Amino acid sequence: MKKPLIGIAGNILVMETGSMPGLMRDYVNHDYSVSVIRAGGIPIIIPPLSDREDILSVLQHIDGLILSGGYDIAPDLYGEEPQLGLGFTMRIVDLFYIEMIQEALAMRLPMLGICKGMQAMNVASGGTLCQDIHRMSGVLQHEQKAPRQFPSHSVSIAPGTQLHRLFGPSLMVNSFHHQAVKEPAPGFIVAATAPDGIPEAIESSRSFALGVQWHPEMMVQSGDDTMLPVFQSLIDNC
Ligand code: MN
Repeated sequence: MKKPLIGIAGNILVMETGSMPGLMRDYVNHDYSVSVIRAGGIPIIIPPLSDREDILSVLQHIDGLILSGGYDIAPDLYGEEPQLGLGFTMRIVDLFYIEMIQEALAMRLPMLGICKGMQAMNVASGGTLCQDIHRMSGVLQHEQKAPRQFPSHSVSIAPGTQLHRLFGPSLMVNSFHHQAVKEPAPGFIVAATAPDGIPEAIESSRSFALGVQWHPEMMVQSGDDTMLPVFQSLIDNC
């Protein structure tokens, strides 16, 4: 059987130091490529594109899509003004993600959103985000100080979801985010929740579209197979 081609939507990294401050690089973290390969797929890195026809052409050549992590999403894209806790944003990447997701959902292309990728799935489908969860009272530490491959907090998984079929009722996850889904988009449900009530995963009821707020690719890359089913489920649906 031919291995599925998995497009990974990339980001722009703005160089802050070095010989060319301000230089922008299109990139995907190596952890994503490693995880796709370990799960049996072939990763294809897609740089940010702005033309909708170009995006459609690329989507027609891949079997599945991963939306990777990155900067905060510009809040006007979900109808809010910027609050004090908002981080750096890069609007051209947000628009690229949103167009990719909308077209991919229309095509029912299997999709996995990780961290910002999950948040973008929600925004692209009409949901909203909390701009800085650490300014809310009673919220756990979601920007862990432990190394990236180690889980730091638990999540409860909703019965009847794809995620529940993969992992059962609970799971330990790593955590590197300060934003989260606020109102889930129409057509999506919250599939996992942290003990403080922060949504940690969303799923579509219409096609395979799973978003996780944690970073399974960082755990897979380190040799921890616990999170491999996240990538295998994408590939199984291709
Ligand atoms: Mn978290």
